[in-house]
Amino acid sequence: MKKKLKAYSWGYYGWSTQIEHFLEAAEAHEVSEGFASPAFADVRIKRSGRAKTFVNNAFEKVVGEGRYRWFPGLGNPKVAAHEEGLAVAKPEEAESLLKYIEDQAKAKRRVLFFCACQYIEHDGEPCCHRRLVADLLLEAARKANKSLEVEEWPGGEPQAIEIEEDSMPRYGVYYPLGSDLPEAGATTLPVGSTAQVSVGDELLDAFGTGPAEFRKGQWWLPIYRWPIEEGEDILESISTKANSMRRAQGTLPRTSNVSSSRSVGSLPMQDLNSIEALLEAIRNLPADQPVHTPRKWYLTQKEHWIGWLSDYSGPGAYGRQIGVKRDAKFAYNHIVQPEMLIYLAEASGVDRKLVKAAKNAFAKGTTLMQKSGAIRGIIPWETVSAALWPN
Ligand SMILES: [Zn+2]
Repeated sequence: MKKKLKAYSWGYYGWSTQIEHFLEAAEAHEVSEGFASPAFADVRIKRSGRAKTFVNNAFEKVVGEGRYRWFPGLGNPKVAAHEEGLAVAKPEEAESLLKYIEDQAKAKRRVLFFCACQYIEHDGEPCCHRRLVADLLLEAARKANKSLEVEEWPGGEPQAIEIEEDSMPRYGVYYPLGSDLPEAGATTLPVGSTAQVSVGDELLDAFGTGPAEFRKGQWWLPIYRWPIEEGEDILESISTKANSMRRAQGTLPRTSNVSSSRSVGSLPMQDLNSIEALLEAIRNLPADQPVHTPRKWYLTQKEHWIGWLSDYSGPGAYGRQIGVKRDAKFAYNHIVQPEMLIYLAEASGVDRKLVKAAKNAFAKGTTLMQKSGAIRGIIPWETVSAALWPN
């Protein structure tokens, strides 16, 4: 099996005066996953600014030249020109970054490519050019037939942590973790995680959270709260909303989809109709052309599917309709967005004539429901399923 490369995007916002704590937490995270301390790829067009730790080669001196390289060509030229907007000066330099990621992988290091911005996306809109760098990098990997996953640091699936206290600490918008590096990865909790605080047997607080921050001499978990509707299950509501926040911040992993594996074939037959099998199959399909639509959290229909199916099989989705079996066919038949159906048909390799007929039907319908219904009339689940799993 082909080895999978992994890289992280990262923004040093908030860390410049606390960089040794960030590096300590990052190293602990990587070591816990069997890697060495990470390497860094600087994707700023200019190495200036107020953060002294990141001016010129100051950061290189901190981590050592073996773990740092500057890729000015992957910087955003609009920043240098004092304009708004996202761009990449020399997109072809993504190939050099890919090479750097491969070289570092030989030394068991994973690479964080970084600029200053706090978020890669805000409200589902790309707000930092490292999102473009991620796309270019995945494209370069695809061309080189390399399997690469890119994720915003620290990545990972949201976790539910439980904090047990002898007595309730006082806190406001951050939860105190003390001055020592907390164990069990609390400093690098994935965005969209949840925390429950209890004293004795009593659950006293629950909130959404993410990677810890270091301020005023100690570690803190960020606290996110949302209004809870009457009758809602509090923990379920927090976990659903924390997950939406994760998507709005663009922190889902993205891959180059090199199809070394339609590995789903190894699953037992009865599993092929599960949501998980469909999710896995879609992850292995090539992505469609990214389209930036205002107020939409996804850039591609592939991402749209993955996000939608992840919710579908998640804890928030079950238990509402007792007795309804939510399998892949059920999911396919409940898609309202016709673009998702067209994408799946094309990417899975459904007969071109059928796809063409489906596109015609798409153009004719007036409502989304009509359009997607007409597409399914031409390409039912069985056709897609046969294309996804030819045997
Ligand atoms: Zn940026």
